[in-house]
Amino acid sequence: MPASSRCRRPALSRWLSTTIALPLLAVALSAHADVLVDNVIGLTPDGKGGLERFTGLLIDDQGNISAVYHDKEKRPKKVAYKVDGKGRYVVPGMIDAHVHIMDTGFAKMTLDLSGARSLEEALVQVRAYVQAHPDRSWIEGNGWNQANWGLDRMPTAAELDRVTGGKPAYLSRVDGHAAWVNSAALAAAGVTDSTADPAGGRIERAAGSRRPAGVLVDAAQDLVAAKVPQPRPSDRDTAFGEAQLEFLKQGVTALADMGTTIQDWQAYRRAGDAGNLRVRIVSYARGTDDMALIGGSGPGGWLYGDRLKIQGVKLYLDGALGSRGAWLKAPYADAPETSGLPRMNETQLGNLMSRAAIDNFQVAVHAIGDKANETVLDTIDQLSQTYKGDRRWRIEHAQVVAPADVVRFGQHGIVASMQPQHEASDRTMAEARLGPARLAGAYAWKSIAATGAPLAFGSDTPVEPPAPFVGLAVAISRQGADGQPVGGWQPQEKLTLGQALAAYTSGAAYAMFAEDRLGRLARGMKADFLFVDRDVATATPEALRQTKVVETWINGQQAWSAARGVAKPLTSGKAR
Ligand SMILES: [Zn+2]
Repeated sequence: MPASSRCRRPALSRWLSTTIALPLLAVALSAHADVLVDNVIGLTPDGKGGLERFTGLLIDDQGNISAVYHDKEKRPKKVAYKVDGKGRYVVPGMIDAHVHIMDTGFAKMTLDLSGARSLEEALVQVRAYVQAHPDRSWIEGNGWNQANWGLDRMPTAAELDRVTGGKPAYLSRVDGHAAWVNSAALAAAGVTDSTADPAGGRIERAAGSRRPAGVLVDAAQDLVAAKVPQPRPSDRDTAFGEAQLEFLKQGVTALADMGTTIQDWQAYRRAGDAGNLRVRIVSYARGTDDMALIGGSGPGGWLYGDRLKIQGVKLYLDGALGSRGAWLKAPYADAPETSGLPRMNETQLGNLMSRAAIDNFQVAVHAIGDKANETVLDTIDQLSQTYKGDRRWRIEHAQVVAPADVVRFGQHGIVASMQPQHEASDRTMAEARLGPARLAGAYAWKSIAATGAPLAFGSDTPVEPPAPFVGLAVAISRQGADGQPVGGWQPQEKLTLGQALAAYTSGAAYAMFAEDRLGRLARGMKADFLFVDRDVATATPEALRQTKVVETWINGQQAWSAARGVAKPLTSGKAR
């Protein structure tokens, strides 16, 4: 651990000369100093690619860090409030670079099928949910994954009909790229034998016929989703509260919301107005229409004391591997009739990216298959000739990249926004979908980082739990919770703890244009940090995965603790 031996100066108010002797400084500081968090074993990225230890933080009344202390360095005598860390471990607040906030909240309010281990178990859970919620006009759920059911096919509408009592049902697959629906839902949406597959989507058909079988892939989901009743604003507020609580518990203090709609944005604004916005949200609008509705003529500044800003737009170029929606250069190894589903062509992508870039919105493009990644890279090549300056083009997932294309991530300031947990969950499925030859560029964190592209890590929750310490464990081990495979999957792509922690903190902050205030515990940065129950720098992957967050602090205030839950804000969101 390259703990810095350099002596850090205590904070300086701007008007103070740097030549004033130290004892004088301590006195001068006390007027500004607010909270001293002392006697901790702290760890933070140092901003130069390494990690640094510290033992105390001084936080001013704006929630900024005004000094970072090492072992014997002098602390100010007078502070408004002192927190004795009692030798506990402190790390920066984790930043999740890719989440779906409202989906995470709604997933907590609807039927969760992620625990079902067979089709029969899933059907039993649906039946119980239908009986427990007689008031619901539609049955909504999520989290199913037929790959965990020992099924080599998708579930069907007929199977769902047996347990839904005639009510329409819409159940999202775990990756959000397919929906399992029943006959009542298909009828409500008028989806029949004569309905054509929409562009960028596929209606699964019963073998040897055109009869919709009950699963809708990618854009085809919208056929039925459009008929599901819209949640009310109060439902959205509840969902936001559920999601925010989950982030606080997991130690996530800032996040990039991938696909914010105007209704989502209004929910975040209502939370901010009421002083209930605790985590920091950087929004990437769901398409250019919502981008313009939310941001108007360009990305806005921070609102509610650096709690909320609109930064850019999220675009989808393809789907996911699990539902074979990811756009590949060559056919799927386990379905040679398809190479996936592009959601748009290169011209359309270029037009949408231009539309955003012309108003200086940051562009984040979902690209999972190697053909999708190549297409985004080509488009960035072209657009970079017109749109100069610090653009930080984001490629979301970058899951399967042709080895020849990997090097291109180092160009044009591209940010690779990747999700370690996907690797552990997907590896067996990815082997089946891709065959052995394409695995070299799959979930290739280290190779992509080696090109100089900044890495930003996230969870893609609700696809995976927003659990950064699980993600860190996977990032350094390439193993799942079961410790498999021994030695790690494609182990040449393992990262060091320093690289992985940076991707969840300073790298994620950089990816959202927030590295000037978030992602490190250093002077001038926001005091967003966690007390955790172990030393993450020295933990084994298994121990790292078990890390418990004890307290979550945001802007120099305790926002959540394991003992007491969500803390009351000391000041309203408006004031800070
Ligand atoms: Zn996502």
